[in-house]
Amino acid sequence: MQYSEIMVRYGELSTKGKNRQTFIDRLGSNVRNVLHEFPEVKVHANRDRLHVDLNGANSDEIMKRLKLVFGIQNFSPSVQVERTFEATAEMAVKMVQEQLGDAKMTFKVNTRRSDHEFEIDTNEMNMRLGGYLLEQFDQLAVDVHNPELTIRVEIRNNGIFLSSETIQGIGGLPVGTGGKGMLMLSGGIDSPVAGFLGMKRGVSMEMVHFFSPPYTSPQALAKAKELTGKMARYSGSIKFIEVPFTEIQETIKSSVPEGYLMTVQRRMMLRLTQALTIQRHAMAIFNGESLGQVASQTMESMMAINDVTTLPILRPVVSLDKNEIIKIAKDIDTYELSILPFEDCCTIFAPPSPKTRPNLERTRLYEQRLDIDGLMQRSLDGIKISEVKAGEEFLNQEADAFAELL
Ligand code: ATP
Ligand code: MG
Repeated sequence: MQYSEIMVRYGELSTKGKNRQTFIDRLGSNVRNVLHEFPEVKVHANRDRLHVDLNGANSDEIMKRLKLVFGIQNFSPSVQVERTFEATAEMAVKMVQEQLGDAKMTFKVNTRRSDHEFEIDTNEMNMRLGGYLLEQFDQLAVDVHNPELTIRVEIRNNGIFLSSETIQGIGGLPVGTGGKGMLMLSGGIDSPVAGFLGMKRGVSMEMVHFFSPPYTSPQALAKAKELTGKMARYSGSIKFIEVPFTEIQETIKSSVPEGYLMTVQRRMMLRLTQALTIQRHAMAIFNGESLGQVASQTMESMMAINDVTTLPILRPVVSLDKNEIIKIAKDIDTYELSILPFEDCCTIFAPPSPKTRPNLERTRLYEQRLDIDGLMQRSLDGIKISEVKAGEEFLNQEADAFAELL
């Protein structure tokens, strides 16, 4: 069926009172952003619905993208017809045919009339169109409470719009309505999931990634960027900040007792992320820590690491089991990338037996051996910021370049 528009229903934002307009505007611009490859498509974000005028664009491609946009409750592909009963009935018959096949089905007609001048009112349209469809199809029976098929009819000034399907959206809040956060993104499974869950609640994210060349390979960096591309499908483009971490790790390794290497490394990561958070006017730090998963994620470790900042650290996957995190990673299509075996900067400098209960006083004491300010300044001087687009890929290019060298 050639649809004229996708009619989008808002999610939770309808309960947000005064902020409602901000939410609607933001969702409108996020949808435009996500559909940037389709210049013919026009998006109108109205008070109670958002209309995506297709202007001939492929509705399946558009709907595939709308399914990923936070703040959309559900949507219906709709066809516009002339403002007459006959045109409406003719299109309704086509829609029923498409849904029905040989099966029996219960149905109802559900009419909304935003144009109150139109001569047929809501009830009359329901009755007349319902009656007409019953005459045309023996397999149909009316069920107004729990129908298998609902033919929706919207009478507007510019035409009558019909739809027969309602497709679930992803829910959540429009990205950008919940402020900005910095996500500590490793190449692992957990942090992309944490970022996804933060964005679901309306937070726009910038990625902070620590890398340690030559101990970590260009592929490890490319992988983190490609993960960012996956996540950008949910929000439009995302800023990716690469933070050099080699000197810090080498210095810590040569000055701090082995049991405290990891705690001190994590404190340095957090300090640097804090500096970036303040510099870039974000409000919170997100990470992929899950309680009890590894040595650095016990309560004692969290306390010893958290000690360096007063910013909120939000941990969206804190109480999820690894299996639950993996399930989400598969759903959002980051899992296959995350399990590619490139060394992360943490795994390389990980001591064989890190302390699961680091002592805070001792951690502070060992750190006094380091020139914290100097190390931080040199790392921050070396950061690189790039903008990663939805679906952008980096790994294959790297592999190609690598192959050419051989
Ligand atoms: P994942 O790597 O996705 O988190 P993990 O279980 O391997 O899973 P850890 O390596 O213990 O987790 O790291 C805990 C958290 O610290 C990560 O979720 C991430 O937020 C942050 N982190 C770890 N390594 C890096 C890195 N190289 N750059 C940025 N953040 C990192
Ligand atoms: Mg990791």
